[in-house]
Amino acid sequence: MDETKSRFLRIKCDDCGNEQIIYDHAATKVKCLVCEKILVEPHGGKAAIKTKVVDVMDKDI
Ligand SMILES: [Zn+2]
Repeated sequence: MDETKSRFLRIKCDDCGNEQIIYDHAATKVKCLVCEKILVEPHGGKAAIKTKVVDVMDKDI
């Protein structure tokens, strides 16, 4: 797998069930758009996902 390749992930908020698309190399925290729970935190260049990933989109959107 190419480590430099970035992907988009579809994640689902554990608290409210909202789904949103995030970048797996997010450099900033990502909050749920509905309940503001922290869903992703930056972690050494690769994002640490704090909730459930429901889909991985390997190609460019
Ligand atoms: Zn939420």
